[in-house]
Amino acid sequence: MKKEITCIGCPMGCRISAVLDENGKIVSLEGYTCNVGKKYAQEEFTVPKRMVTALVRVHGQNRPLSVKTAKPIEKSRIFDCLKQLESCTVILPVHAGDVVVPHVCGTDVDIVATREMY
Ligand code: SF4
Repeated sequence: MKKEITCIGCPMGCRISAVLDENGKIVSLEGYTCNVGKKYAQEEFTVPKRMVTALVRVHGQNRPLSVKTAKPIEKSRIFDCLKQLESCTVILPVHAGDVVVPHVCGTDVDIVATREMY
């Protein structure tokens, strides 16, 4: 199977294409012009990841707290991640960068606060 993506590593936006075998393994990769693009494409074609942002409830407050993943999480886990955050309530005070949910959905990714709240 042939797939194509646009590299987001820099404004050049190279078109990178890959041929994958029936197990999703990359057989050939072309179109990248640097190693950043090669690494990005290898990950994007095999285990794509994204940063996730969300709002979580705050105990005793009407305003929610904005949070995000501390690093990109596998795309296939995003729904589970948001589901877990839906049932989460944060107790104040919280500082920007504090871990609100460690190892979300059993992954190695923490959910952190993006701002202070007292
Ligand atoms: S492959 Fe390299 S040069 Fe091309 S868009 Fe990606 S980072 Fe930029």
